[in-house]
Formats: sequence, structure tokens, C-alpha cells
Amino acid sequence: GATVNVDLKEPKDKLLGGLLTADFDEDSCLSRYQSSLYRKSSPYKPSEYLVSKLRSYEMVHKRCGPGTHAYKEATKNLHGHDDNKNYANKTVGECKYIVWVAVYGLGNRMLTLASVFLYALLTDRVVLVDQSKDTSDLFCEPFPGTSWLLPRDFPLTRQIDGYNKEYLRCYGTMLNNHAINSTLIPQHMYLHILHDSRDEDKMFFCPKDQALIDKVPWLIVKANVYFVPSLWFNPSFRTELVKLFPQKETVFYHLARYLFHPTNQVWGMVTRSYDAYLSRADQTLGIQVRVFSRRAGYFRHVMDQIVACTQRERLLPELATPLTNASRSKKLNAVLVTSLYPEYSNNLKDMYWERPTSTGDVVQVYQPSGERFQQTDKKLHDQKALAEMYLLSLTDNIVTSAGSTFGYVAHSLGGLKPWLLYRPVRGRTPDPPCVRAVSMEPCYLTSPSHGCETRKRIDLATIFPFVRHCEDLWHEGVKLF
Ligand code: GDP
Repeated sequence: GATVNVDLKEPKDKLLGGLLTADFDEDSCLSRYQSSLYRKSSPYKPSEYLVSKLRSYEMVHKRCGPGTHAYKEATKNLHGHDDNKNYANKTVGECKYIVWVAVYGLGNRMLTLASVFLYALLTDRVVLVDQSKDTSDLFCEPFPGTSWLLPRDFPLTRQIDGYNKEYLRCYGTMLNNHAINSTLIPQHMYLHILHDSRDEDKMFFCPKDQALIDKVPWLIVKANVYFVPSLWFNPSFRTELVKLFPQKETVFYHLARYLFHPTNQVWGMVTRSYDAYLSRADQTLGIQVRVFSRRAGYFRHVMDQIVACTQRERLLPELATPLTNASRSKKLNAVLVTSLYPEYSNNLKDMYWERPTSTGDVVQVYQPSGERFQQTDKKLHDQKALAEMYLLSLTDNIVTSAGSTFGYVAHSLGGLKPWLLYRPVRGRTPDPPCVRAVSMEPCYLTSPSHGCETRKRIDLATIFPFVRHCEDLWHEGVKLF
């Protein structure tokens, strides 16, 4: 049964096995210490090494963060122009930074922010978050006694929007132009880790690239892919990663639970839905429906796919034939549907209202919102999206849509191996309709086609026993398991 008794007693594992620091005021961010009340106890514990690494990161962030002497030193000589005084061959203070820029949808953002944070842990950088978007309406500060928000008067603020692959300080472009070497190190550099990146951009993590990048005081990143799996291909990162995450499929799980604490407003939405619709159920199922076709909306073949998958995998009871009210188990199945379109959950609801189930179980269907179209950077829209991802992560089982970062966040945060709905081709219901994932990790959708040591194309899914192709994409993308 899924019934979690949410009362006001002290949560059992409030600090998530040491993952969280106790140094925060509880009321300013209720989700931080209350989330464990809404979850079953976790089978995945953070390693002691991860815990100690996080505590020392917090100290460094406090020393280097906004408002400190170190931050002032580091920004003093930072300009946007390509003049030579930006080529620093001496260090600029004691701290190095990486600025995460908010681009694409919320799922993309959470995957890339976690990736950038892990890269920062591995390379002793401090992460600062672009606050031109609504990030601070969604998430609480994760590091105590400081801020992760990039100050608005950061010298490069006004240029960042225009950074792209052609920008002369874009790493891949600098490589192609032979504009970077050990005597020619810029003060800032732009990393472009998007679906349209060249391998030169994607391979920034390789040892020879790191030898240069490591000397650059300021990195600015725009990313929309979960690039964590690629970091394992650098041998010295790998040594660290194995110690940080002895259970390889728990990388996003732990990082997300450490970094992403919904603000009180979002948390109110999460807990009100949970208490009203999920807390009393014997079994809960999350279904995330994302339609990527050009004309998106309601499609009969997607509806059929949802029903086929949930019945075949025994996630929901079958309908009784003939229409007798047979057995009387009366277990309560609560289904949480999230989608931009309300029709999928309406149809499911009708289906279980119009006919009895073969087991006598009762099915209750709930969809918090149906926003119709994506409205990224509209505050309430994004808050609903976060609340729904979080709610999905609280269910017992989860069905998500292939290739959707929204779905990846939901199942990974929940520690759940999802059933992935294959992407329909030419308007047909795929057969089989869905596949059970081998791990809860998100997929790196557009992974590089090379390894660090070779210039030949290789299949990254064949190098390590813990990296494979994603279940939901044919021969594309890699994930940890
Ligand atoms: P992806 O495009 O599926 O990889 O996921 P993203 O989260 O990056 O972008 C999709 C965006 O569309 C979300 O961030 C929301 O703004 C919106 N969206 C998509 N599906 C849903 C949903 O089920 N519920 C809500 N509330 N918003 C959604």
C-alpha cells in the first residue's frame, strides 16, 4: 500500500541520510525538511564521500559566492570584449566559477543544472545560476549562508543571451579557430552543450580539453541535455565518480534531492494535491503524457497506447467482461495523470466509471492541470509544472513518455524505474506500447559520437558495463544503469 501517514511528527530521515545540511531555517523552505514525510523510506543512501564532498562544497560556495571579496576579485577584470587583457595567464583570485544559463523547458533545466553542479564538484568550481528567469520562484536556495543566484550586475549579463555556437569564446569554435592553447587562456569561455552541439563542444570533459578549460576562471554554460553519463569517460573524473556514486543509477536521484527544493508556494500545491488525491490510496500510479508531434494535442492512438501499456503491465486493473460487478476487493488505485491536454485523463476516468473492473478495485483519476501549451517562463505555469513533476515522483509506479526530460526528472527524483511509452511513428500505437526501464537515470539524448582517446566514431554504449543505450530511443543516447 502507498498510504503514507502524513502527520506533524518529526520525520524519520529529515536530512536524507546526511545528504542535506541541518543549517537552514525550516519555515523559509518547508519542502526541504518535510519531503521525507511524503516518501517511503529510501533504499538508496548517499555515500559518505558524497556527503563530505557536499559539505566542503558548501564551505567553498560561502567563501566564493556573491558579495564576497573573492567574487569581487574574480569579476573585477571581466569584460565582454575580445581584447588581450582578457587573456590571463595568471590566476584571478582563489575561486573559479561556472554560470548556468536557464534555457528550454523546466525538465531540461533541472537535468542540466544537476549536470553542471556535478561537473563543478569534480572540477572545484562554484555554480551560479542565471536569475533572469523565474528560477527563484521555483526553487529554494540549496547552499546555506550564501546564494546561488548570479548577481544582476554580473559584468557579462547583457551579452549572455546572445551566446551561441558562433560566438568567438565558444569552446568548440575556439578549438576550430586554434584560438586556445596553454599560453592563450581567456578569462571567460562559453560551453554550448545543446542538441545541436558539435563533438568539439560536447567533448569538453576529456582530459586534454580539461587541461585548458580548467585554467579559465569563468565558464558560462547553455545546455539542454543531461550530460552526466559522458563525464565517466574522463578517467580522473571516473575515479571520483565511483567513490561519489557507488550505485551508478543514483546520480540524478541524489543530486536532485540535494539541489531542488520547491518554494513554499509550489510545495503548497504539491501537498494539497497529495493530501486530497493520493494519500489514502492503496496503490498510486503516475502517468505522464507528452506529445511531441508537430500538431500536438489529443490523439486516439496515444490514448490506446496508454491503456495498452497500463493493462499489459498490470499497472491498472482490467475492465470486467461481461459487465458483472464480480469480486469485491475494492482496493483504491489512485492515478495521477500529467499532460498539457486534459482529454487523456478524462477518457481514463470515463472508462473506469462506465464499467467495473475485473478485480473489483476502484480507480480514481486525477489531473492537476491541463495548460494546453507550453508557456515556459510564465511563473504560475512553471510552478504548476514543477508541482506536477514532484507529485509524479511521489507515486508507487510511473509511466512516462519517451524522450521527455519532464518525465525523466519525475521518475529519477522518485527513485523509480519507469515504464516508457515509445514514441508513436506515423500515427500508430507502437507495439509493444511501452518498455520497463533498466534504471531510474535520465537519458543523455544526444551523446557524443567519439571517445576521448580516439578520433574514430565509436558507440559509447559499448565501452563500460554501466553505460548503455536508452531504452526509449533506438540506437541513440546513453544512460547509466
Ligand atoms: P520535455 O520538453 O518533455 O523534455 O520537458 P520540459 O520540461 O523541458 O519542457 C516541457 C514544458 O512544457 C514543461 O516544462 C511545462 O512548461 C510544459 N509541460 C509539458 N508537459 C506538462 C505537464 O504534464 N504538466 C505541466 N504542468 N506542464 C507541462
